[in-house]
Amino acid sequence: MSLYSPSIEKLIEGFEKLPSIGHKTAIRLAFYILNSSEEETNEFVSSIINAKKNLKYCSKCFNISDTDPCIICGNPKRDESTICVVEDVKDIIAMERTHEYKGVYHVLHGSISPMNGIGPDDIKIKELLTRLQKGVVKEVILATNPRVEGEATAMYLSKLIKPLGIKVTRIARGIPIGGDLEYTDEITLTQALEGRRELQ
Ligand SMILES: [Zn+2]
Repeated sequence: MSLYSPSIEKLIEGFEKLPSIGHKTAIRLAFYILNSSEEETNEFVSSIINAKKNLKYCSKCFNISDTDPCIICGNPKRDESTICVVEDVKDIIAMERTHEYKGVYHVLHGSISPMNGIGPDDIKIKELLTRLQKGVVKEVILATNPRVEGEATAMYLSKLIKPLGIKVTRIARGIPIGGDLEYTDEITLTQALEGRRELQ
């Protein structure tokens, strides 16, 4: 028997489905909504509905965008001869925050993971190869995550792309600045060791 009325229970259940929201937080959010004004609630609900309705995938890079092409692909100042391949839309935001990268992107929407039944056909690899066949791209930067799946995906892509005569690079890897050796996973640590250089 639930302590809450069915409407509140349903709201709590809704919040609980969101990532990293536990039962207690769901209850707190549900009561926050109940205590907020009708105007605030309507605004919040319509922002969710509008986001779902307006956002689409960019037909070039598969970024999530209000427009197609997305603002990056549609920007004539971006260098179309360099494509940075990432696993997720959120990785574009991380790369853009550096303000260093001037090329364009390609979002795979995942990584190859045989353990989870995700093969090359389940992510946007075919679409990447189609882009590369146009002959504009000179370099592909593989910026998949330095985890087992990300490394496997980078290896797989490298083998496919190199025969096309396109330069393939991998982002520098290692222990993140401010990272702690103790909390660095073994893969990262191994790569950091392998990529070691002599100090002057
Ligand atoms: Zn795009």
